[in-house]
Amino acid sequence: MTPGQAPGVGMCSPTSAERTCIRCGRLLERMINEKPYLFRQRNYCSSLCRNRANSEQKAALWRDPIARERFQRGIHQNQFTTDHQQSILRMRTIMLERWQNPQYVQRMQGRRRLTAEQIKAIRADTRSIRAISRDYGLSYAAIHKICKRLTYCEIE
Ligand SMILES: [Zn+2]
Repeated sequence: MTPGQAPGVGMCSPTSAERTCIRCGRLLERMINEKPYLFRQRNYCSSLCRNRANSEQKAALWRDPIARERFQRGIHQNQFTTDHQQSILRMRTIMLERWQNPQYVQRMQGRRRLTAEQIKAIRADTRSIRAISRDYGLSYAAIHKICKRLTYCEIE
């Protein structure tokens, strides 16, 4: 550390010279006592910039009808991406294969909490997953898995 320099500033991260705030373009500087790994993850110059960028993003979402619909249903912006859909498809294939095994079928049928009619009703429900889960007293994940046919995949 050179004399007169604040401790913790410019000591490491050679990337600090190149990186700028993704909103205002100001050069990012590592703050005193800021952990290097946190600095590397940081994209904005200040919390003010970060908060403004977040609200600008929300406003942009609101203007887009598809994004707005998702937003209103409480679906996260990055939820159900292509990767996610592919992993769901993979999982569903595995589950359907398991259901070919009679032993597995026997074991699972004893643990069934919902009837086929209830499953069909849940899948046909157009409300949000959160609203359905509240109605049935089940968790968000349980309803999500039913709707994505990861559980009760033998029905329909
Ligand atoms: Zn900024």
